[in-house]
Amino acid sequence: MGEGYGLECERCKHSFEIHEGGGFLDYGIFRTEPNGKPKFHEYVGTAKMIAEINDIMRTKENVAEYHPPYDPNKKFSGSGWKMYLCPECRRLDSRYYFRITFTGGEYEPPYHCKKCKKKILPAKLRKSGDAMRIVAGKGIWWKCPKCGHDKVVYNNVIICWD
Ligand SMILES: [Zn+2]
Ligand SMILES: [Zn+2]
Repeated sequence: MGEGYGLECERCKHSFEIHEGGGFLDYGIFRTEPNGKPKFHEYVGTAKMIAEINDIMRTKENVAEYHPPYDPNKKFSGSGWKMYLCPECRRLDSRYYFRITFTGGEYEPPYHCKKCKKKILPAKLRKSGDAMRIVAGKGIWWKCPKCGHDKVVYNNVIICWD
């Protein structure tokens, strides 16, 4: 089950949607799709990342997806759509987070900002009075692209899919 919600800038009402959760993903990212390709092709999006993951599957031992059931209270524990923030331009995006473990290491998809090409970071909401702020990494805060304000509130948009 996947879900999403709408947020808007507390000041100027600039709004956007965030997707979270797994959708069909309880079957795992290595599952073969009807088109004959593994599920993760749909999520990573770039030929370079697909090649990196294929390389891991070919050369590493005990390759597995780290895949505990999705828990909305621990959004960073397993696979699922997550909010990402660009540390450079502070653009928000929803990307599919997952982690592959293998003997001697692990792999997380290195997603990049569509606008400035910097590596983007998983982000989360932090309560701030009646509103919230969005933070990634160590104190990288979202700022409204329209007005520069840094607080958001939920609007009434709820997204569900399965
Ligand atoms: Zn704003
Ligand atoms: Zn950016």
